[in-house]
Amino acid sequence: AENVEHMSFQAEAKQLMKLMIHSLYSNKEIFLRELISNASDAADKLRFEGLSDAALYENDPDLKIQITFDKETRTLTITDNGIGMSRQEVIDNIGTIAKSGTREFFNALTGDQAKDAHLIGQFGVGFYSAFIVADKVSLTTRRAGLTHEHGVRWESTGEGEYTLETVEKHNRGTEIVLHLREDETDLLDGHKLHSIIRRYSDHITLPILMKKQVWDEEKKSYKLSDEDETVNQASAIWTRPKSEITQEQYEEFYKHVAHDFEPPLAYVHAKVEGKQEYTQLLYIPTRAPFDLFDRDHRHGLKLYVKRVFIMDDAEKLLPAYLRFIRGIVDSNDLPLNVSREILQESKDIDNIRAGCIKKVLGLIESLATNEEKADQDKFRTFWREFGQVLKEGIAEDFTNRERIAKLLRFISTFDESDEQNVSLDEYIARMKPEQEKIYYITADGLKAAQSSPHLEIFRKKGIEVLLLCDRIDEWLVANLHEYSGKSLQSIAKGDLDLGKLEDEEEKKIKEKETGEFQELATKMKEVLQDHVKDVRVTFRLTESPACLVSDTHDMSGNLERLLKSAGQ
Ligand code: ADP
Ligand code: MG
Repeated sequence: AENVEHMSFQAEAKQLMKLMIHSLYSNKEIFLRELISNASDAADKLRFEGLSDAALYENDPDLKIQITFDKETRTLTITDNGIGMSRQEVIDNIGTIAKSGTREFFNALTGDQAKDAHLIGQFGVGFYSAFIVADKVSLTTRRAGLTHEHGVRWESTGEGEYTLETVEKHNRGTEIVLHLREDETDLLDGHKLHSIIRRYSDHITLPILMKKQVWDEEKKSYKLSDEDETVNQASAIWTRPKSEITQEQYEEFYKHVAHDFEPPLAYVHAKVEGKQEYTQLLYIPTRAPFDLFDRDHRHGLKLYVKRVFIMDDAEKLLPAYLRFIRGIVDSNDLPLNVSREILQESKDIDNIRAGCIKKVLGLIESLATNEEKADQDKFRTFWREFGQVLKEGIAEDFTNRERIAKLLRFISTFDESDEQNVSLDEYIARMKPEQEKIYYITADGLKAAQSSPHLEIFRKKGIEVLLLCDRIDEWLVANLHEYSGKSLQSIAKGDLDLGKLEDEEEKKIKEKETGEFQELATKMKEVLQDHVKDVRVTFRLTESPACLVSDTHDMSGNLERLLKSAGQ
Protein backbone atom coordinates (compact mmCIF):
# COMPACT_ATOMS: atom_id res chain seq x y z
CA ALA A 1 0.00 0.00 0.00
CA GLU A 2 1.00 3.58 -0.53
CA ASN A 3 1.17 4.72 3.04
CA VAL A 4 3.35 1.84 4.23
CA GLU A 5 6.63 3.07 5.58
CA HIS A 6 9.62 0.75 5.96
CA MET A 7 11.86 1.33 8.93
CA SER A 8 14.80 -0.42 10.59
CA PHE A 9 15.62 -1.27 14.14
CA GLN A 10 19.01 -0.30 15.53
CA ALA A 11 21.91 -2.40 14.34
CA GLU A 12 21.91 -4.55 17.44
CA ALA A 13 18.26 -5.54 17.12
CA LYS A 14 18.75 -8.71 15.16
CA GLN A 15 21.39 -9.99 17.52
CA LEU A 16 19.27 -9.11 20.51
CA MET A 17 16.24 -10.86 19.11
CA LYS A 18 18.21 -14.03 18.40
CA LEU A 19 19.67 -14.01 21.84
CA MET A 20 16.30 -13.53 23.44
CA ILE A 21 14.63 -16.31 21.52
CA HIS A 22 17.52 -18.57 22.39
CA SER A 23 17.77 -17.76 26.08
CA LEU A 24 14.06 -17.61 26.81
CA TYR A 25 12.93 -20.49 24.67
CA SER A 26 12.87 -23.00 27.50
CA ASN A 27 10.32 -20.76 29.18
CA LYS A 28 8.58 -19.53 26.07
CA GLU A 29 5.08 -19.31 27.55
CA ILE A 30 6.07 -16.11 29.28
CA PHE A 31 5.46 -14.19 26.05
CA LEU A 32 1.78 -14.19 26.95
CA ARG A 33 2.47 -12.89 30.43
CA GLU A 34 4.50 -10.03 28.90
CA LEU A 35 1.79 -9.04 26.44
CA ILE A 36 -0.93 -9.25 29.10
CA SER A 37 1.26 -7.26 31.48
CA ASN A 38 1.58 -4.51 28.84
CA ALA A 39 -2.17 -4.53 28.22
CA SER A 40 -2.74 -4.16 31.94
CA ASP A 41 -0.25 -1.27 32.13
CA ALA A 42 -2.08 0.37 29.23
CA ALA A 43 -5.36 0.10 31.16
CA ASP A 44 -3.69 1.61 34.23
CA LYS A 45 -2.46 4.53 32.14
CA LEU A 46 -5.95 5.11 30.76
CA ARG A 47 -7.42 5.08 34.26
CA PHE A 48 -4.85 7.57 35.40
CA GLU A 49 -5.30 9.96 32.47
CA GLY A 50 -9.05 9.39 32.65
CA LEU A 51 -9.13 10.92 36.12
CA SER A 52 -8.57 14.35 34.60
CA ASP A 53 -10.15 13.68 31.19
CA ALA A 54 -13.16 11.36 31.30
CA ALA A 55 -13.70 11.76 27.53
CA LEU A 56 -10.78 9.35 26.96
CA TYR A 57 -13.13 6.48 27.84
CA GLU A 58 -15.09 7.11 24.62
CA ASN A 59 -18.24 5.42 26.00
CA ASP A 60 -16.30 2.20 26.47
CA PRO A 61 -15.62 2.25 30.21
CA ASP A 62 -15.18 -1.46 30.98
CA LEU A 63 -11.48 -2.12 30.71
CA LYS A 64 -10.60 -5.64 29.69
CA ILE A 65 -8.22 -7.90 27.80
CA GLN A 66 -9.45 -10.32 25.17
CA ILE A 67 -7.53 -13.37 23.93
CA THR A 68 -8.65 -15.22 20.81
CA PHE A 69 -7.08 -17.78 18.52
CA ASP A 70 -7.75 -19.07 15.04
CA LYS A 71 -6.59 -22.50 13.92
CA GLU A 72 -7.13 -21.71 10.25
CA THR A 73 -4.87 -18.68 10.11
CA ARG A 74 -2.63 -19.98 12.94
CA THR A 75 -2.93 -16.70 14.80
CA LEU A 76 -3.22 -15.73 18.42
CA THR A 77 -4.65 -12.28 19.16
CA ILE A 78 -4.39 -10.15 22.30
CA THR A 79 -6.69 -7.15 22.40
CA ASP A 80 -7.00 -4.42 25.00
CA ASN A 81 -8.99 -1.21 25.31
CA GLY A 82 -6.33 0.64 27.27
CA ILE A 83 -4.58 3.88 26.42
CA GLY A 84 -3.27 2.77 22.99
CA MET A 85 -0.41 4.50 21.22
CA SER A 86 0.03 7.36 18.78
CA ARG A 87 2.27 6.93 15.74
CA GLN A 88 5.20 8.55 17.50
CA GLU A 89 4.67 6.42 20.59
CA VAL A 90 4.75 3.28 18.45
CA ILE A 91 8.08 4.38 16.97
CA ASP A 92 9.50 5.27 20.38
CA ASN A 93 8.16 2.31 22.36
CA ILE A 94 7.95 -0.55 19.90
CA GLY A 95 10.37 0.50 17.16
CA THR A 96 13.24 1.03 19.55
CA ILE A 97 14.71 -2.04 21.09
CA ALA A 98 16.25 -1.91 24.53
CA LYS A 99 15.75 1.85 24.51
CA SER A 100 18.59 3.49 26.38
CA GLY A 101 21.74 1.64 27.24
CA THR A 102 21.88 -0.90 24.42
CA ARG A 103 25.64 -0.82 24.50
CA GLU A 104 25.81 -1.42 28.25
CA PHE A 105 23.43 -4.24 27.66
CA PHE A 106 25.70 -6.02 25.23
CA ASN A 107 28.68 -5.43 27.48
CA ALA A 108 26.82 -6.93 30.40
CA LEU A 109 25.98 -10.16 28.60
CA THR A 110 27.75 -13.11 30.10
CA GLY A 111 26.87 -16.03 27.89
CA ASP A 112 25.23 -17.65 30.92
CA GLN A 113 21.64 -18.19 29.83
CA ALA A 114 19.97 -17.64 33.17
CA LYS A 115 21.83 -14.41 33.82
CA ASP A 116 21.33 -13.08 30.33
CA ALA A 117 17.63 -13.84 30.46
CA HIS A 118 17.44 -11.60 33.49
CA LEU A 119 19.25 -8.81 31.70
CA ILE A 120 16.87 -9.06 28.81
CA GLY A 121 14.01 -8.47 31.23
CA GLN A 122 15.72 -5.42 32.67
CA PHE A 123 16.15 -3.83 29.31
CA GLY A 124 12.44 -3.85 28.74
CA VAL A 125 12.22 -6.09 25.71
CA GLY A 126 9.06 -7.64 27.10
CA PHE A 127 7.08 -6.97 23.95
CA TYR A 128 9.65 -8.69 21.75
CA SER A 129 9.20 -11.95 23.60
CA ALA A 130 6.30 -12.36 21.13
CA PHE A 131 8.92 -13.38 18.57
CA ILE A 132 9.81 -16.43 20.60
CA VAL A 133 6.65 -18.06 19.29
CA ALA A 134 5.73 -15.86 16.33
CA ASP A 135 7.51 -15.31 13.02
CA LYS A 136 5.37 -12.27 12.31
CA VAL A 137 3.74 -9.83 14.68
CA SER A 138 1.13 -7.28 13.68
CA LEU A 139 0.21 -4.58 16.18
CA THR A 140 -2.66 -2.21 15.49
CA THR A 141 -3.33 0.58 17.91
CA ARG A 142 -5.08 3.88 18.40
CA ARG A 143 -4.47 6.22 21.26
CA ALA A 144 -7.43 7.18 23.44
CA GLY A 145 -8.70 10.62 22.46
CA LEU A 146 -7.44 10.53 18.85
CA THR A 147 -9.96 10.13 16.03
CA HIS A 148 -10.56 6.84 14.17
CA GLU A 149 -8.34 7.63 11.20
CA HIS A 150 -5.33 7.96 13.52
CA GLY A 151 -4.86 4.24 13.92
CA VAL A 152 -1.37 2.81 13.33
CA ARG A 153 -0.32 -0.66 12.22
CA TRP A 154 3.16 -1.90 13.03
CA GLU A 155 4.37 -5.14 11.51
CA SER A 156 7.60 -7.06 11.76
CA THR A 157 9.12 -10.48 11.31
CA GLY A 158 11.65 -9.61 13.98
CA GLU A 159 14.55 -9.55 11.54
CA GLY A 160 15.72 -5.99 11.82
CA GLU A 161 12.96 -4.20 9.96
CA TYR A 162 9.39 -3.18 10.51
CA THR A 163 6.65 -1.40 8.62
CA LEU A 164 4.31 1.34 9.77
CA GLU A 165 0.97 2.09 8.23
CA THR A 166 -1.78 4.53 9.06
CA VAL A 167 -5.09 2.72 9.38
CA GLU A 168 -8.63 3.35 10.48
CA LYS A 169 -9.28 1.93 13.93
CA HIS A 170 -12.67 2.12 15.51
CA ASN A 171 -11.93 0.88 19.00
CA ARG A 172 -9.45 2.59 21.23
CA GLY A 173 -6.50 0.51 22.43
CA THR A 174 -4.18 -2.12 21.02
CA GLU A 175 -4.60 -5.38 19.15
CA ILE A 176 -1.63 -7.69 18.71
CA VAL A 177 -1.80 -10.56 16.23
CA LEU A 178 0.86 -13.24 16.52
CA HIS A 179 1.43 -15.43 13.46
CA LEU A 180 2.70 -18.53 15.17
CA ARG A 181 5.81 -20.37 14.09
CA GLU A 182 5.45 -23.80 12.54
CA ASP A 183 6.14 -25.71 15.75
CA GLU A 184 3.93 -23.65 18.08
CA THR A 185 0.65 -25.30 17.18
CA ASP A 186 0.00 -26.31 20.79
CA LEU A 187 -0.81 -22.67 21.57
CA LEU A 188 -3.90 -22.86 19.37
CA ASP A 189 -5.76 -24.57 22.13
CA GLY A 190 -8.17 -23.09 24.66
CA HIS A 191 -7.17 -25.34 27.54
CA LYS A 192 -3.52 -24.65 27.05
CA LEU A 193 -4.06 -20.88 26.94
CA HIS A 194 -6.28 -21.04 30.04
CA SER A 195 -3.59 -22.75 32.00
CA ILE A 196 -0.88 -20.31 30.88
CA ILE A 197 -3.05 -17.35 31.83
CA ARG A 198 -4.01 -18.83 35.19
CA ARG A 199 -0.41 -19.59 35.91
CA TYR A 200 1.25 -16.31 34.97
CA SER A 201 -1.45 -13.66 34.85
CA ASP A 202 -4.01 -14.58 37.46
CA HIS A 203 -3.14 -11.48 39.50
CA ILE A 204 -4.04 -9.08 36.69
CA THR A 205 -6.87 -6.94 38.02
CA LEU A 206 -8.68 -6.56 34.69
CA PRO A 207 -10.75 -9.43 33.41
CA ILE A 208 -8.90 -11.52 30.81
CA LEU A 209 -11.59 -12.87 28.54
CA MET A 210 -11.69 -15.84 26.22
CA LYS A 211 -14.50 -17.37 24.24
CA LYS A 212 -16.12 -20.16 26.16
CA GLN A 213 -15.48 -23.63 24.81
CA VAL A 214 -18.37 -25.99 24.40
CA TRP A 215 -18.34 -29.68 23.70
CA ASP A 216 -19.52 -30.58 20.23
CA GLU A 217 -21.16 -34.01 20.54
CA GLU A 218 -21.18 -34.60 16.77
CA LYS A 219 -17.53 -33.81 16.14
CA LYS A 220 -16.46 -35.14 19.50
CA SER A 221 -14.34 -32.12 20.18
CA TYR A 222 -14.48 -28.67 21.77
CA LYS A 223 -15.56 -25.70 19.74
CA LEU A 224 -15.69 -22.03 20.55
CA SER A 225 -18.98 -20.36 21.44
CA ASP A 226 -19.75 -16.66 21.18
CA GLU A 227 -19.92 -16.27 24.91
CA ASP A 228 -17.03 -14.73 26.86
CA GLU A 229 -15.69 -16.10 30.09
CA THR A 230 -13.22 -14.52 32.49
CA VAL A 231 -10.16 -16.72 32.82
CA ASN A 232 -8.33 -15.02 35.71
CA GLN A 233 -9.56 -14.25 39.22
CA ALA A 234 -9.39 -10.56 38.27
CA SER A 235 -9.21 -9.47 41.88
CA ALA A 236 -6.25 -7.55 43.28
CA ILE A 237 -3.90 -10.13 44.80
CA TRP A 238 -3.06 -7.91 47.76
CA THR A 239 -6.69 -7.81 48.89
CA ARG A 240 -6.81 -11.58 49.29
CA PRO A 241 -5.92 -13.22 52.59
CA LYS A 242 -2.27 -14.25 52.71
CA SER A 243 -3.21 -17.87 53.30
CA GLU A 244 -4.95 -17.95 49.92
CA ILE A 245 -2.01 -16.65 47.91
CA THR A 246 0.60 -19.10 46.73
CA GLN A 247 4.29 -18.32 46.55
CA GLU A 248 4.07 -18.57 42.77
CA GLN A 249 1.26 -16.01 42.64
CA TYR A 250 3.27 -13.60 44.76
CA GLU A 251 6.19 -14.10 42.40
CA GLU A 252 4.21 -13.60 39.20
CA PHE A 253 2.71 -10.42 40.58
CA TYR A 254 6.20 -9.21 41.34
CA LYS A 255 7.38 -9.85 37.79
CA HIS A 256 4.48 -7.77 36.53
CA VAL A 257 4.97 -4.75 38.81
CA ALA A 258 8.75 -4.82 38.65
CA HIS A 259 9.06 -5.67 34.94
CA ASP A 260 11.50 -8.32 36.07
CA PHE A 261 12.03 -11.84 34.74
CA GLU A 262 13.48 -13.24 37.92
CA PRO A 263 11.58 -14.02 41.12
CA PRO A 264 12.08 -11.58 44.00
CA LEU A 265 14.52 -12.17 46.86
CA ALA A 266 11.94 -11.53 49.57
CA TYR A 267 8.61 -9.84 50.13
CA VAL A 268 6.30 -8.59 52.83
CA HIS A 269 2.54 -8.28 52.61
CA ALA A 270 0.69 -6.43 55.35
CA LYS A 271 -2.57 -4.72 56.00
CA VAL A 272 -2.47 -1.71 58.31
CA GLU A 273 -5.63 -0.85 60.19
CA GLY A 274 -6.53 1.87 62.65
CA LYS A 275 -6.46 5.60 62.09
CA GLN A 276 -5.28 4.98 58.57
CA GLU A 277 -6.01 1.97 56.46
CA TYR A 278 -3.73 0.74 53.77
CA THR A 279 -2.26 -2.43 52.36
CA GLN A 280 1.34 -2.84 51.33
CA LEU A 281 2.95 -5.54 49.26
CA LEU A 282 6.67 -4.81 49.02
CA TYR A 283 9.40 -6.77 47.29
CA ILE A 284 13.19 -6.83 47.35
CA PRO A 285 14.48 -7.82 43.87
CA THR A 286 17.14 -10.51 43.58
CA ARG A 287 19.42 -8.35 41.47
CA ALA A 288 20.17 -4.67 41.34
CA PRO A 289 19.07 -2.97 38.12
CA PHE A 290 21.90 -1.72 35.93
CA ASP A 291 20.83 1.89 36.51
CA LEU A 292 20.61 1.79 40.30
CA PHE A 293 23.08 4.66 40.64
CA ASP A 294 21.66 6.61 37.74
CA ARG A 295 19.96 9.81 38.88
CA ASP A 296 17.04 9.12 36.58
CA HIS A 297 16.48 5.65 37.96
CA ARG A 298 12.74 5.37 38.35
CA HIS A 299 11.78 4.65 41.89
CA GLY A 300 8.87 4.36 44.21
CA LEU A 301 5.86 2.11 44.42
CA LYS A 302 2.66 1.75 42.49
CA LEU A 303 -0.04 3.65 44.33
CA TYR A 304 -3.65 2.50 44.41
CA VAL A 305 -6.58 4.11 46.16
CA LYS A 306 -9.38 1.71 47.07
CA ARG A 307 -8.00 -0.74 44.50
CA VAL A 308 -8.02 1.84 41.69
CA PHE A 309 -4.61 2.36 40.12
CA ILE A 310 -3.44 5.93 40.62
CA MET A 311 0.19 6.13 39.58
CA ASP A 312 3.48 4.37 38.91
CA ASP A 313 6.73 5.24 40.63
CA ALA A 314 5.15 7.18 43.49
CA GLU A 315 8.57 8.23 44.75
CA LYS A 316 7.11 9.94 47.81
CA LEU A 317 6.25 6.55 49.28
CA LEU A 318 9.87 5.57 49.91
CA PRO A 319 13.12 7.43 50.57
CA ALA A 320 15.87 7.35 47.94
CA TYR A 321 17.95 4.85 49.87
CA LEU A 322 15.17 2.28 49.43
CA ARG A 323 14.75 3.02 45.73
CA PHE A 324 15.31 -0.61 44.81
CA ILE A 325 12.08 -1.74 46.48
CA ARG A 326 9.20 -2.65 44.15
CA GLY A 327 5.55 -3.21 44.90
CA ILE A 328 2.28 -1.49 45.69
CA VAL A 329 0.50 0.49 48.35
CA ASP A 330 -3.28 0.60 48.34
CA SER A 331 -4.76 3.32 50.55
CA ASN A 332 -8.34 3.48 51.76
CA ASP A 333 -8.10 7.10 52.89
CA LEU A 334 -6.55 9.14 50.07
CA PRO A 335 -8.85 10.88 47.59
CA LEU A 336 -9.15 9.24 44.17
CA ASN A 337 -8.02 12.39 42.43
CA VAL A 338 -4.74 12.51 44.34
CA SER A 339 -1.88 13.92 42.25
CA ARG A 340 1.89 14.02 42.67
CA GLU A 341 1.57 17.59 43.92
CA ILE A 342 -0.94 16.58 46.58
CA LEU A 343 1.30 13.70 47.63
CA GLN A 344 4.12 16.15 48.33
CA GLU A 345 2.03 17.85 51.01
CA SER A 346 0.05 14.96 52.39
CA LYS A 347 0.38 14.00 56.06
CA ASP A 348 -1.30 10.69 55.25
CA ILE A 349 1.48 9.94 52.83
CA ASP A 350 4.10 10.77 55.45
CA ASN A 351 2.56 8.15 57.69
CA ILE A 352 2.35 5.55 54.94
CA ARG A 353 5.96 6.27 54.01
CA ALA A 354 7.09 5.78 57.60
CA GLY A 355 5.12 2.53 57.65
CA CYS A 356 6.74 1.32 54.43
CA ILE A 357 10.24 2.08 55.72
CA LYS A 358 9.49 0.10 58.88
CA LYS A 359 8.22 -2.86 56.92
CA VAL A 360 11.21 -2.91 54.57
CA LEU A 361 13.77 -2.58 57.36
CA GLY A 362 11.93 -5.29 59.25
CA LEU A 363 12.08 -7.55 56.23
CA ILE A 364 15.82 -7.00 55.78
CA GLU A 365 16.38 -7.53 59.51
CA SER A 366 14.53 -10.82 59.36
CA LEU A 367 16.87 -12.01 56.62
CA ALA A 368 19.88 -10.82 58.62
CA THR A 369 18.92 -12.41 61.92
CA ASN A 370 17.25 -15.62 60.84
CA GLU A 371 19.53 -18.54 61.55
CA GLU A 372 18.37 -20.54 58.55
CA LYS A 373 20.97 -20.90 55.87
CA ALA A 374 18.57 -19.87 53.11
CA ASP A 375 17.89 -16.54 54.78
CA GLN A 376 21.56 -16.00 55.56
CA ASP A 377 22.31 -16.50 51.87
CA LYS A 378 19.53 -14.13 50.95
CA PHE A 379 20.91 -11.50 53.26
CA ARG A 380 24.33 -11.88 51.71
CA THR A 381 22.80 -11.49 48.23
CA PHE A 382 20.87 -8.49 49.46
CA TRP A 383 23.97 -6.85 50.84
CA ARG A 384 26.01 -7.51 47.73
CA GLU A 385 23.35 -6.02 45.45
CA PHE A 386 21.95 -3.20 47.56
CA GLY A 387 24.29 -2.63 50.51
CA GLN A 388 25.85 0.46 48.98
CA VAL A 389 22.43 2.03 48.52
CA LEU A 390 21.32 1.17 52.03
CA LYS A 391 24.38 2.99 53.35
CA GLU A 392 22.91 6.22 51.97
CA GLY A 393 20.21 5.80 54.60
CA ILE A 394 22.66 6.62 57.38
CA ALA A 395 22.75 10.19 56.11
CA GLU A 396 19.24 10.33 54.74
CA ASP A 397 17.14 8.82 57.50
CA PHE A 398 17.99 10.16 60.91
CA THR A 399 15.04 8.44 62.59
CA ASN A 400 16.16 4.98 61.56
CA ARG A 401 19.91 5.53 61.68
CA GLU A 402 20.59 3.03 64.46
CA ARG A 403 18.45 0.36 62.75
CA ILE A 404 20.22 0.87 59.45
CA ALA A 405 23.64 0.90 61.13
CA LYS A 406 22.85 -2.50 62.63
CA LEU A 407 22.43 -3.86 59.10
CA LEU A 408 25.73 -2.51 57.77
CA ARG A 409 28.44 -5.01 56.85
CA PHE A 410 32.16 -4.32 56.44
CA ILE A 411 35.40 -5.88 55.41
CA SER A 412 37.64 -6.15 58.43
CA THR A 413 41.21 -7.00 59.34
CA PHE A 414 39.75 -9.90 61.36
CA ASP A 415 37.87 -11.46 58.47
CA GLU A 416 39.72 -13.41 55.81
CA SER A 417 37.29 -12.77 52.98
CA ASP A 418 37.12 -9.79 50.67
CA GLU A 419 33.37 -9.71 51.13
CA GLN A 420 31.66 -7.25 53.42
CA ASN A 421 30.63 -9.61 56.21
CA VAL A 422 31.29 -8.01 59.56
CA SER A 423 28.54 -6.12 61.40
CA LEU A 424 29.18 -3.40 63.95
CA ASP A 425 27.67 -5.66 66.61
CA GLU A 426 30.16 -8.39 65.79
CA TYR A 427 32.97 -5.86 65.93
CA ILE A 428 31.86 -4.61 69.33
CA ALA A 429 31.56 -8.15 70.67
CA ARG A 430 35.21 -8.74 69.71
CA MET A 431 36.58 -5.48 71.11
CA LYS A 432 39.41 -5.66 73.65
CA PRO A 433 38.25 -5.05 77.26
CA GLU A 434 40.11 -1.71 77.33
CA GLN A 435 39.01 -0.68 73.84
CA GLU A 436 36.59 2.24 73.69
CA LYS A 437 36.27 3.01 70.00
CA ILE A 438 35.39 1.38 66.72
CA TYR A 439 38.43 1.81 64.47
CA TYR A 440 38.23 2.09 60.71
CA ILE A 441 40.22 3.25 57.74
CA THR A 442 38.85 4.60 54.46
CA ALA A 443 40.69 4.07 51.19
CA ASP A 444 39.86 4.02 47.51
CA GLY A 445 40.39 0.31 47.17
CA LEU A 446 40.80 -2.76 49.29
CA LYS A 447 44.47 -3.18 48.41
CA ALA A 448 45.18 0.41 49.42
CA ALA A 449 43.37 -0.09 52.70
CA GLN A 450 45.07 -3.39 53.49
CA SER A 451 48.55 -2.05 52.86
CA SER A 452 48.10 1.21 54.74
CA PRO A 453 50.94 1.89 57.20
CA HIS A 454 48.33 3.18 59.62
CA LEU A 455 47.34 -0.41 60.26
CA GLU A 456 50.75 -1.44 61.62
CA ILE A 457 50.23 -0.57 65.24
CA PHE A 458 46.76 -2.16 65.20
CA ARG A 459 48.12 -5.39 63.77
CA LYS A 460 50.80 -5.42 66.42
CA LYS A 461 48.32 -4.92 69.22
CA GLY A 462 45.76 -7.29 67.70
CA ILE A 463 43.04 -4.67 67.39
CA GLU A 464 40.40 -5.08 64.69
CA VAL A 465 40.04 -2.35 62.06
CA LEU A 466 37.20 -2.01 59.56
CA LEU A 467 38.35 -1.43 55.98
CA LEU A 468 36.02 0.98 54.22
CA CYS A 469 36.58 1.18 50.48
CA ASP A 470 33.25 1.93 48.81
CA ARG A 471 32.83 5.40 47.38
CA ILE A 472 29.93 6.06 49.68
CA ASP A 473 31.93 5.18 52.81
CA GLU A 474 33.38 8.66 53.36
CA TRP A 475 29.86 9.95 53.34
CA LEU A 476 28.83 7.17 55.67
CA VAL A 477 31.41 7.87 58.37
CA ALA A 478 30.84 11.60 58.06
CA ASN A 479 27.30 10.88 59.23
CA LEU A 480 27.77 7.98 61.58
CA HIS A 481 29.73 9.21 64.58
CA GLU A 482 28.79 6.47 66.96
CA TYR A 483 27.01 3.19 67.20
CA SER A 484 25.67 1.53 70.30
CA GLY A 485 27.43 4.11 72.49
CA LYS A 486 30.83 3.55 70.83
CA SER A 487 32.33 6.29 68.73
CA LEU A 488 33.81 5.56 65.32
CA GLN A 489 37.43 6.60 64.92
CA SER A 490 39.45 6.89 61.75
CA ILE A 491 42.95 5.52 62.29
CA ALA A 492 44.31 7.93 59.69
CA LYS A 493 43.32 11.12 61.40
CA GLY A 494 45.01 13.42 63.91
CA ASP A 495 46.86 12.33 66.99
CA LEU A 496 45.88 8.77 67.38
CA ASP A 497 44.99 8.38 71.01
CA LEU A 498 44.71 4.70 71.75
CA GLY A 499 43.48 5.56 75.24
CA LYS A 500 43.62 2.66 77.63
CA LEU A 501 44.99 0.42 74.91
CA GLU A 502 48.40 1.96 75.51
CA ASP A 503 50.36 0.53 78.41
CA GLU A 504 52.42 2.52 80.93
CA GLU A 505 55.71 1.24 79.59
CA GLU A 506 54.89 2.46 76.10
CA LYS A 507 53.88 5.86 77.39
CA LYS A 508 57.21 6.36 79.09
CA ILE A 509 59.21 5.42 76.01
CA LYS A 510 56.97 7.64 73.97
CA GLU A 511 57.66 10.70 76.11
CA LYS A 512 61.39 10.10 76.13
CA GLU A 513 61.71 9.48 72.40
CA THR A 514 59.42 12.32 71.42
CA GLY A 515 61.93 14.60 73.07
CA GLU A 516 64.88 12.96 71.34
CA PHE A 517 63.37 13.05 67.86
CA GLN A 518 61.76 16.45 68.14
CA GLU A 519 64.79 18.20 66.74
CA LEU A 520 64.76 16.00 63.63
CA ALA A 521 61.06 16.63 63.13
CA THR A 522 61.57 20.39 63.31
CA LYS A 523 64.33 20.19 60.70
CA MET A 524 62.13 18.18 58.38
CA LYS A 525 59.34 20.70 58.74
CA GLU A 526 61.72 23.45 57.67
CA VAL A 527 62.71 21.50 54.58
CA LEU A 528 59.15 20.58 53.60
CA GLN A 529 57.87 24.07 54.34
CA ASP A 530 54.36 24.66 52.99
CA HIS A 531 53.93 21.12 51.74
CA VAL A 532 52.84 19.96 55.16
CA LYS A 533 51.07 21.49 58.12
CA ASP A 534 53.23 19.75 60.68
CA VAL A 535 55.77 16.98 61.18
CA ARG A 536 55.26 14.88 64.28
CA VAL A 537 57.04 12.02 65.97
CA THR A 538 54.74 9.01 66.02
CA PHE A 539 54.51 5.56 67.53
CA ARG A 540 51.82 4.23 65.30
CA LEU A 541 54.26 2.80 62.78
CA THR A 542 56.13 -0.42 63.36
CA GLU A 543 57.62 -1.00 59.90
CA SER A 544 57.15 2.05 57.70
CA PRO A 545 59.39 5.05 58.43
CA ALA A 546 56.70 7.68 57.77
CA CYS A 547 53.06 8.17 56.83
CA LEU A 548 50.70 10.99 55.95
CA VAL A 549 47.85 11.83 58.30
CA SER A 550 45.19 14.49 58.13
CA ASP A 551 44.14 16.73 60.96
CA THR A 552 41.23 15.60 63.13
CA HIS A 553 38.90 18.13 61.55
CA ASP A 554 40.32 18.14 58.04
CA MET A 555 39.08 16.12 55.13
CA SER A 556 40.55 12.67 55.01
CA GLY A 557 43.10 11.95 52.31
CA ASN A 558 40.70 9.61 50.61
CA LEU A 559 37.85 12.10 50.52
CA GLU A 560 40.21 14.67 49.10
CA ARG A 561 41.15 12.24 46.33
CA LEU A 562 37.50 11.48 45.63
CA LEU A 563 36.58 15.13 45.35
CA LYS A 564 39.54 15.79 43.09
CA SER A 565 38.58 12.97 40.76
CA ALA A 566 35.04 14.36 40.69
CA GLY A 567 36.49 17.68 39.54
CA GLN A 568 35.79 19.61 42.75
P1 ADP B 1 8.02 -2.43 29.41
O1 ADP B 1 6.64 -2.99 29.61
O2 ADP B 1 8.98 -2.94 30.44
O3 ADP B 1 8.04 -0.93 29.28
P2 ADP B 1 7.80 -3.71 26.85
O4 ADP B 1 8.78 -4.14 25.83
O5 ADP B 1 6.93 -4.79 27.43
O6 ADP B 1 8.60 -2.99 28.02
O7 ADP B 1 6.89 -2.59 26.24
C1 ADP B 1 7.47 -1.45 25.66
C2 ADP B 1 6.54 -0.29 25.64
O8 ADP B 1 5.58 -0.42 24.59
C3 ADP B 1 5.70 -0.10 26.89
O9 ADP B 1 6.41 0.61 27.88
C4 ADP B 1 4.52 0.70 26.36
O10 ADP B 1 4.85 2.08 26.28
C5 ADP B 1 4.36 0.20 24.94
N1 ADP B 1 3.32 -0.83 24.87
C6 ADP B 1 3.49 -2.16 24.75
N2 ADP B 1 2.31 -2.80 24.72
C7 ADP B 1 1.36 -1.86 24.80
C8 ADP B 1 -0.09 -1.87 24.82
N3 ADP B 1 -0.78 -3.02 24.76
N4 ADP B 1 -0.74 -0.68 24.89
C9 ADP B 1 -0.05 0.48 24.96
N5 ADP B 1 1.29 0.56 24.97
C10 ADP B 1 1.99 -0.59 24.88
MG1 MG C 1 6.14 -4.93 29.43
